[in-house]
Amino acid sequence: MNDEQLQRLVCQVSQEKFGCAFKHHALFNKRLRTTGGRYLLVNHNIEINPKMIMEHDRSTIIGIIKHELCHYHLHLTGQGYHHRDQAFKQLLQKVGGLRYTPPAPRETEKLRYRCSNCGQEYFRSRRINTNRYVCSKCRGKLVLIRKVK
Ligand SMILES: [Zn+2]
Ligand SMILES: [Zn+2]
Repeated sequence: MNDEQLQRLVCQVSQEKFGCAFKHHALFNKRLRTTGGRYLLVNHNIEINPKMIMEHDRSTIIGIIKHELCHYHLHLTGQGYHHRDQAFKQLLQKVGGLRYTPPAPRETEKLRYRCSNCGQEYFRSRRINTNRYVCSKCRGKLVLIRKVK
């Protein structure tokens, strides 16, 4: 996926889920480290971490886009756009956006685990004992998915 395709996807999600046009720019930013995406208050652009595209499936990417679009539309219409604001929480729930962006791996984290129950992913630099360590969200069993390249 390139910047142009990302732009098109964000416009499409905005129109379909929010019923409003996205009139600014969506682009990839390689410098984002552990965050999956961000909305910039200064120029209304949405930046997405390119690692997210490589490491997660399409529904996760759309979940991130919805999350950033909640900030975007609420901010531009003068409503509460912070994570703690009621308007933000309600809109996020309505459009089915991700509450938190999934993690992007750090340089040293080569192993990816996924919770077999809720699907939450974890990146680790060393193997963990999955009999002892469970998902911190739901206590489900963790499964080693693969090595991150
Ligand atoms: Zn956010
Ligand atoms: Zn879980």
